[in-house]
Amino acid sequence: MPTSAPSTDHSLSPASLQRAQRLREKRLLTGLVSYGLALAVTIGAWLLGFYGGEVVAVVVALVVPINIGLFALIRSGKNLGFRDPNITLLQLCLASVPVLYAMFHAGEARGAFLVLSLSVTMYGLFSFRTRDFVYFTAFILTGYSTVILLLLWLSPDGLHPRVDSLQWFAVLVAMAQFSSLAGYVNGLRGRLRQGNKALAEGNAALQRALDRIREMAMRDELTGAYNRRYLAEAIALERKRCEREGGGFSFAIVDIDFFKQVNDTYGHLAGDEVLKGVAALLRTELRETDLFGRWGGEEFAVLLVGAELDDACSTMERILSALAAQLFTTADASLHITASAGITAYRSHEDADRTFARADEALYRAKAAGRNRVEVTA
Ligand code: GH3
Ligand code: MG
Ligand code: MG
Repeated sequence: MPTSAPSTDHSLSPASLQRAQRLREKRLLTGLVSYGLALAVTIGAWLLGFYGGEVVAVVVALVVPINIGLFALIRSGKNLGFRDPNITLLQLCLASVPVLYAMFHAGEARGAFLVLSLSVTMYGLFSFRTRDFVYFTAFILTGYSTVILLLLWLSPDGLHPRVDSLQWFAVLVAMAQFSSLAGYVNGLRGRLRQGNKALAEGNAALQRALDRIREMAMRDELTGAYNRRYLAEAIALERKRCEREGGGFSFAIVDIDFFKQVNDTYGHLAGDEVLKGVAALLRTELRETDLFGRWGGEEFAVLLVGAELDDACSTMERILSALAAQLFTTADASLHITASAGITAYRSHEDADRTFARADEALYRAKAAGRNRVEVTA
């Protein structure tokens, strides 16, 4: 017998739509187990002599095309044209047809098949709206009434008007109860959906906040370049990589010359603009594999991955020339600046502080030698 899945396929991606369709096919196939159980009752009534074997044969002859038809409907994607792509109402109505047929022939055992039709109804509990229940109740009661009327016409002796009227009424009452229960289940499902949606939105917001915090923790706020903490971690990783795979890296510290004068002459805000400009220049001039960040105050550090000292030296000289050539435009002034750089190469197995100290020492010499230049400590 049919089972249901959550409906509404609009706004699904093609892949999700495919998955939903395959799930419907699978559910249709597992639903065959329920058909099998209902068939057991049909066979039971035959074995107990309520009707002949031909009734069982007709029931099977109905069940097979019904299921093939439903499968074809889903496989062809035509179910997607329905308001409910799970086509639950259609499935339940079709499933009731063989039950009504057996009921017609079952004589005094008619009640057993009424129970079966109620068990079919239960499959609507999780997806039917109240309106669907009304339709289905109308279908079942019309079917049952048709059975009674046909019997009245063809073999009135088999009818028990008092029993059948009472059963008819009991079906109506049971359906009304199912319907109110379905309304309750639907409400629960709606609340669950909303809760899940709120949870998903909360998670996404949390993820965004986390990403932002992570980003803030590794960046310098003013220039957007990496901060010293991040650079130190990156250097630690690079050291490990060098120890493991060989190779090396060069490390440079770039310090803006007479930066205090920039602040003193043009103001702190202009100084900030210059710092941003220097970071932007480093970003464009360095290779993507190189890393740079703000080492502190008006100092930037550069990690030249895999670079020998000579190469690193020419890279830094090129950058200092570009820096000296650049006109920095701030709100109130246009100015030129220069910077000095000290470079060293990482020595295998040494402490990172030793590398930093050598670069610092080289920088000190660059300053002492007149600034706007690169000095190297091998
Ligand atoms: P030197 O050529 O010897 O490096 O001289 P200097 O003036 O650049 O060096 P000093 O260490 O005397 O001054 C550094 C200045 O950098 C002082 C400090 O106010 C300024 N500075 C540090 N951080 C910032 C910042 O975030 N914004 C601005 N505007 N200035 C900063
Ligand atoms: Mg300095
Ligand atoms: Mg300086």
